[in-house]
Amino acid sequence: MKQANLPPQRRAATRRTAGYAQEDHVLDPYQQRGKLHNGTLCPQCGAVYHEGRWRWAPASGGADKSLCAACRRINDNLPAGILKLRGIFGQQQTDEIVRLARHQEDAEKQEHPLNRIIGVEEEEEAIVIKTTDIHLPRRIGAAVRRAFHGRLTEDFDAAGYLVRVTWTVDR
Ligand SMILES: [Zn+2]
Repeated sequence: MKQANLPPQRRAATRRTAGYAQEDHVLDPYQQRGKLHNGTLCPQCGAVYHEGRWRWAPASGGADKSLCAACRRINDNLPAGILKLRGIFGQQQTDEIVRLARHQEDAEKQEHPLNRIIGVEEEEEAIVIKTTDIHLPRRIGAAVRRAFHGRLTEDFDAAGYLVRVTWTVDR
């Protein structure tokens, strides 16, 4: 990601120690600020807004339509989470890790419809997974560590509402 494309508040990252602290009190700029009516439908993913949060539910006819925060992040390609998996991967291990990540995403987004993978990019000796939320990178990182050991580090930039999680393979 090119720095120039980021909003100014993203540029000053604050470093914090790795951990699983909750940052839910920190404001996500993509969170819905205005009031939505119960039953509002996201026309892109089909999530339905109900009593303050988005859920997977049947839409009623004639519902209001509004894009959810996850779809807006996907459309803007502006992740809240970036998980970088560093190591030397063959195609087989790459496929295995991507499958594992997708499995974690499926499990996560059943309960939390706005927590999703935006994209998976294969770089030289790394896999980069961008997400719409700050929880999924940790969940996937933890699953990769359970499967392959290695080390996890984490940086949370509160001002930019961006978490960067890095997994490094043991050598
Ligand atoms: Zn949506």
